[in-house]
Amino acid sequence: MAAITLPSPFSTIPLYRLSYDSPSPVHLLSGLTQYVNKNSSRQPQIRLFSKREDQAGSLTCYGNKYRKFEYIIPDILARKDVTTIVTEGALQSNHTVQVASMARVIGKKCTVLLHMGIGGLRKAVDKDTFLKVGNVQLNRILGADVRITDETDTGDENGPLVPILDQLKAQGEHPYWISSGASLHPLGGLGYARCAFEIALQEKELTALTESGGSGRFDYIFVACGSGSTLAGLIAGFKLLEKTTQSNRQVIGIMTSPTKSRSYQEERILRLARKTGHLIGLEDENNITAQDIHLEDAFVGEGYGILDHKTAEAINLAAQVDSLLLDPVYTAKVMRGMLAWAKDNRWLGDSAFSNQDNSTTNALFIHTGGQIALSAYEDVWSRDSRDVAL
Ligand SMILES: *Cc1c(COP(=O)(O)O)cnc(C)c1O
Repeated sequence: MAAITLPSPFSTIPLYRLSYDSPSPVHLLSGLTQYVNKNSSRQPQIRLFSKREDQAGSLTCYGNKYRKFEYIIPDILARKDVTTIVTEGALQSNHTVQVASMARVIGKKCTVLLHMGIGGLRKAVDKDTFLKVGNVQLNRILGADVRITDETDTGDENGPLVPILDQLKAQGEHPYWISSGASLHPLGGLGYARCAFEIALQEKELTALTESGGSGRFDYIFVACGSGSTLAGLIAGFKLLEKTTQSNRQVIGIMTSPTKSRSYQEERILRLARKTGHLIGLEDENNITAQDIHLEDAFVGEGYGILDHKTAEAINLAAQVDSLLLDPVYTAKVMRGMLAWAKDNRWLGDSAFSNQDNSTTNALFIHTGGQIALSAYEDVWSRDSRDVAL
């Protein structure tokens, strides 16, 4: 595989590699492709692929946050006095585990604040299990200082959680704060901007794609929208790429929480994408506009981190037709979104399938990881999931 070449100034931003030298794998989802095209009169058909961000490296429970950290680590290391990395998340947060794991790699301590009020605990039948297994256990295995709290106070756009930072400083530590999901970090969007270049390179070398009779590109890319910088980074990266190459990939963010409205998130993603754009050479605000942001909120369900029966069914479906394991909080909702789009043409407007040249449409599902949280949801999953008739 040829190496990614980033244009300047993007290429000059320091990067600390955590992932393998080779790009994360992209493969055809043959079972799900068959599933969406079955009983469909639509010609030509849709082909579904997956990019395995959960298999991009060797570190604990690989997932999308590591790519963000590849650009944050140089900033941590530049501050020579940092002793501990501090972050927070929901009780079953994947992000916190990736921070704890990354901290080990660079020889720092890690303090993790887990909020009981965010995520699935409220709906868990077996609350004791939810409080112990999955990502909570992993944080402990990694030796993070885990603090489970029922305070609803979280760090947000206004800045980090001051009390815990003050407390650590009083103990002689020099903390480095990373917000939940790392999206508010000024460098948080760069990892997925780089990923856009990786995807473009893979498009050229993937025979299953180039020989599909379609555009030779991923016409649609589906990804979770949580804290937002995965989506925003991809949008900024593709914008930069498309300055020099003609193409029109559409990145679609599937919202995973009903807490904030779609319009709020659209505005937020635009802001994050522009912030990243500014760093990589899209200085003009108008390089990225509201028209570049596509968000879908039909699959948010009852709450962030709450597994509903349709999402549980998507987990079973992907496992049974493609042996693909999804996570209950993000990727299963993204899969529902992509399948609804592919099967029903339910949204994105009527033009979604009508490629001008009447060729195959190619869609890419970004698998961002998180499967380890499944064990915490066993109770709800076994109560609510039904197998989907194939
Ligand atoms: C954090 C996370 C996401 C969401 O990514 P954001 O950049 O926060 O939007 C998606 N999938 C998984 C598995 C995650 O852990």
